Amino acid sequence: MLTVMPIPAFQDNYIWVLRQDTQDRVAVVDPGDADPVIAWLEQENLTLDTILVTHHHKDHTGGLRALTERYAPQVYGPANDAIPGIHHRVGEGDECRVLGRRFEVYAVPGHTLDHIAFHAPGTPGLLFAGDTLFSGGCGRLFEGTPLQMQESLAKLDALPEDTLVFAAHEYTLANLAFAAAAEPDNATRDRYRSECQKARDLDRPTLPTTMGRERQINPFLRIGNPGLRETLSQQGPVDDDAAAFATLRAWKDRF
Ligand SMILES: [Zn+2]
Repeated sequence: MLTVMPIPAFQDNYIWVLRQDTQDRVAVVDPGDADPVIAWLEQENLTLDTILVTHHHKDHTGGLRALTERYAPQVYGPANDAIPGIHHRVGEGDECRVLGRRFEVYAVPGHTLDHIAFHAPGTPGLLFAGDTLFSGGCGRLFEGTPLQMQESLAKLDALPEDTLVFAAHEYTLANLAFAAAAEPDNATRDRYRSECQKARDLDRPTLPTTMGRERQINPFLRIGNPGLRETLSQQGPVDDDAAAFATLRAWKDRF
């Protein structure tokens, strides 16, 4: 069975580790820092088989060189020459096999133009969303347009509700504070927010989340919700879904 666990890095990054219980070779996603990965592999007496990279930002790629030199893993990542050390440059519609499990690649531009997500279909499916979809939020638009991000999120929103979503940052509480301002009347979100607060008080991750939950609590997936639309109309244009999404993302940036 494939299990997934986080190695915390920097302030609030998670480097996700995929492990098949019968194998001593693991995979990691977005190793921004090699040190905590090496320390964990040494401690568990494991080696690195595969690295998945979602986008070019340093806090997702900074550990690539040291890990590649030490373990010689296969590296899958975006078709972006600015990221050195990727053996398999993949994009929309491509597939790869990681520890025997089949992964599909989605192009999800918005946070960056090269951003991809890795999805392993199954029950449950696994989604490595990088900085595109967070619990309660989505990535900031450094390179793409609001429309690109909205279309990228729509692709992920089509996944089954039990899909486990592994995001690259522990941003959940801050996102839910914004969600509470954007859509005040959402009892499911309020319950989830207090669960997440308890988890963080115990220094536990709030992730993974699920697609089903995100559809209930994440304002960036609820752009058609009347309550959200009403609040948004006081922040900027809401003439159609695209305008409302742009208004929501811009409001989050200054929140
Ligand atoms: Zn990023």
